[in-house]
Amino acid sequence: MEGEASPSMPPELVLVPLEANSPKKGRPQTATSNLFPPELTPFRQRRASQSRSTRSKLFQRFFFPFATDAEWNDWRWQLQNRFQDGRSLSRILRLSDDERNALDRPEGQLPVNVTPYYASLLDAGDSEQPLRRGVIPSCDEFVCTNGESDDPLAEDSMSPVHGLVHRYPDRVLFLITDHCAACCRYCTRSRVVGTGEMAPDARRWELALEYIENTPTIRDVLLSGGDPLTLSDDRLEYLLHRLRRIPHVEFVRIGTKVPVVLPQRITLPLVRMLRRYHPLWMSIHFMHPDEVTPEVERACERLADAGIPLGSQTVLLKGINDNVDTMKRLMHGLLRIRVRPYYLYQCDPITGSSQFRTPVEKGLEIIAGLRGFTTGYGVPHFVIDAPGGGGKIALVPNAVIGREEDSVLLRNYEGNVYKYPDASR
Ligand SMILES: *Cc1c(COP(=O)(O)O)cnc(C)c1O
Repeated sequence: MEGEASPSMPPELVLVPLEANSPKKGRPQTATSNLFPPELTPFRQRRASQSRSTRSKLFQRFFFPFATDAEWNDWRWQLQNRFQDGRSLSRILRLSDDERNALDRPEGQLPVNVTPYYASLLDAGDSEQPLRRGVIPSCDEFVCTNGESDDPLAEDSMSPVHGLVHRYPDRVLFLITDHCAACCRYCTRSRVVGTGEMAPDARRWELALEYIENTPTIRDVLLSGGDPLTLSDDRLEYLLHRLRRIPHVEFVRIGTKVPVVLPQRITLPLVRMLRRYHPLWMSIHFMHPDEVTPEVERACERLADAGIPLGSQTVLLKGINDNVDTMKRLMHGLLRIRVRPYYLYQCDPITGSSQFRTPVEKGLEIIAGLRGFTTGYGVPHFVIDAPGGGGKIALVPNAVIGREEDSVLLRNYEGNVYKYPDASR
């Protein structure tokens, strides 16, 4: 790595994986919680969402008896103690044969990454639990069906610089790191996540920044990966600072799942840094209503209080969130924690995704079950990212059912037909 190429670029975050669960002798056993200096804690936070969920507390006491609360609440500790293989996972989950076999496959697969916090949400006895299916591999992952590929959206062929996807005229997708705190089994970027292919490398960043600087049509930069929030505050700030210096870049956003799988990362110093680079928006990846916990609520509250508009992105997944009730509970949960539902994605046909993919009809059915039945803010756009690189294509249930003389015939959410007197052209 040529970290020296740019002297002001902070060194890469070094995470030394510790032996998970190992008792640490001589550690103070006192539980300290100085994360919330009282003068910085708005009254509202104290009432609603300050406490951790009982579930994660019990999990911590049981599986990490030697960890202090301060350690548990430290995002670096959470990353250092990730569950990454069958051996460690078998201590907290009753693995099914299928899961065990998938975990035993040696190489060439998307890594497994489960933070202790997210592990606390997994059901030890049910391998079909939605959250568990999202992060624990199954053997179906190794089955490649018709039409699937490693890079279905042709991102690599639309990258003027490695890791910078320029598909739309006025905005770019910048894959700043391949580190991720989750490794969702249906990840669109399974081909790069955790491979070292798109490391937060100074030279690659420099080339991407140069391209953005030299392309005045780019007014919107979307930072993704991997997960941008796995980088240190300093590294992230370096990048935001560089982007802010480019006059034509009006708008920066971060795509992340960190607030959901590693809410401890959303520290006060992080949000204080982020708020210096407005306008900054964030798209947070949610999969299921069970992910909306007190910890996640508090993380989103900090981000929203820092003035960062929060949107959500959700992938439609078979047997996980593919029904109106689950999706409605998720959207309601998001609105409660001030996250505006943005996209519902048809699952991309990446290699091994057939176990997760639903018929396109399913997404339309879900949108039809939301629109009108609940808050309009709670209805995301249902999109298919077109294979081959056509970009996102929005699908809506068809409401126009015909014409009658000068009127348009429209079907409402309850199925009743209404006439709108159309204007003449
Ligand atoms: C999704 C995406 C964007 C952002 O699209 P919006 O509809 O503006 O949110 C930009 N570039 C690429 C390559 C994308 O996949």
